Amino acid sequence: MLKSGVSFLRFQNITLSCSNKSYTLLHCQTLSISMAPHVLIFPLPMQGPVNCMLKLAELLCLSGISVTVLNTDHIQRTLLRHTNVLSRFSRYPNFHFQTISDGLPHDHPRSSERFLEVCEGMRTVTEPAFREMMVSGCFSSKSASPVTVIIPDGSFSFALDVAEEIQIPLIYFETVSPCALWTYLCLPKLIEAGEVPFNGNDLDVLIRSVPGTETFLRRRDLPGFYRIDNLANHVMQIIMNEAQHVPRAYGVIINTFDELDASILVHMRNLCPNIYCIGPLHTLHKNRLAVASKTTTLKQQSDVSNSLWEENRTCLSWLDMQPAKSVVYVSIGSMARMTVDQFFEIWQGLVNSGKPFLWVQRPGSVLGEYDDSQVPQNLVDETKQRGFIATWVPQEEVLAHPAIGGFLTHGGWNSTMESIMEGVPMICWPFYVDQQVNSRFVSEVWKVGIDIKDTCDRVIIEKAVNDLIHVKRDEFIRSVKPLAESGAQSVAQDGSSYMDLNRLVEDVKSMNL
Ligand code: UDP
Repeated sequence: MLKSGVSFLRFQNITLSCSNKSYTLLHCQTLSISMAPHVLIFPLPMQGPVNCMLKLAELLCLSGISVTVLNTDHIQRTLLRHTNVLSRFSRYPNFHFQTISDGLPHDHPRSSERFLEVCEGMRTVTEPAFREMMVSGCFSSKSASPVTVIIPDGSFSFALDVAEEIQIPLIYFETVSPCALWTYLCLPKLIEAGEVPFNGNDLDVLIRSVPGTETFLRRRDLPGFYRIDNLANHVMQIIMNEAQHVPRAYGVIINTFDELDASILVHMRNLCPNIYCIGPLHTLHKNRLAVASKTTTLKQQSDVSNSLWEENRTCLSWLDMQPAKSVVYVSIGSMARMTVDQFFEIWQGLVNSGKPFLWVQRPGSVLGEYDDSQVPQNLVDETKQRGFIATWVPQEEVLAHPAIGGFLTHGGWNSTMESIMEGVPMICWPFYVDQQVNSRFVSEVWKVGIDIKDTCDRVIIEKAVNDLIHVKRDEFIRSVKPLAESGAQSVAQDGSSYMDLNRLVEDVKSMNL
């Protein structure tokens, strides 16, 4: 399907020979060529971004846009092993997967501790390969299906350089929270004001250079990687780059809704005027698929997992047997790792709270070794009675289960949105990236949970669980319910996120060359 095209100029060198002399003329030709809109989606190779971007890809396909998702070989292999993505996406003739190397050997753990090696692989192998694909390879204007818009992860500054070089529009997808993104965008101001790096160790000092947060954001609530002594740090350089690149993009897609983040968006729009708020993305995605299954031949699918680990679905039958609103769901997401000491403190705290718990113990999520003889017998016995341990679960379904009373989470942005939308209050125990900021917003701005950052012992966990499930439950529910309702309204027909997705689709369609 070719859309109406626009004219553009092609310059060619033409060599003429005359009286043994050669003259090179610059010949200019006006061409009227049209290309169908074709979006290239390029996620950061991690669970959260891959999951979100596949959802966005499906939404764009449903709107008739051709989409290619560019995954690293490693992510693609893992997705194929644990999900039905190939058959699910084969329903869309306008969808394709393409892969690219991340520059690391197959058996590299790609863990958070070795994040710098992941960055180095991207820099030396992925970036030049991406440039080649865009400039002269499979996505270039010389190819059969040229890319007309790039939607990469917000941290891929190299993608904007390539887009500017070949003059095609780029829209960043920021999969971190808006509140954390805002602290990234304010980094130059924070440095100029001398607020980062921190002078002294007092983590409770308020931060003044992040507009909209002056009364509650402390040093300890800034992204974890801001806790450094000097700015030469590699991750800081990545964030500085991001802060400079994001405002240069055509637009920015964010997984939030206007009502949730109004106090931040009002400031962010001064720097990035074209923001598409399409969250809660998982709910928008679910709604649009449900509508498509009623209005088109597309059948509704029960398994829509994009998980990089095999999901244990038997936990849902275990939840069926638990009393309503009684269970604490525990997960630290796809990247964070706790020490052996922290592992035992959490376990003991959960057991001492006396509440049933469903705990995701992702392979590799505990740093260091312990042997079974170290495990106190009371933990083993009590866990048998009222605990369920799994390596990975269908989290959206778990949070929607009536037995869930609260979520002990690392405060990743997807987990936070999923929990709010199910009206589940949280205990946030943040590790890094956006989690420190998110947990402050959970406790101080949205008032839907407890922030235990920088602490982790059995007494604190036991008290927080009791507060979450009993003592402060009504207070949290009073705050989380209206948020969940406005989130649902924003993705319903004519809601703000619903309309922003439509605007994104229209903009992408109008950008065909
Ligand atoms: N998740 C899941 N099963 C699990 C744990 C997590 O499906 O057992 C999903 C969760 O629903 C969320 C994503 O993994 O969509 C984690 O993303 P988040 O931004 O919360 O944290 P990250 O993993 O990026 O630190």
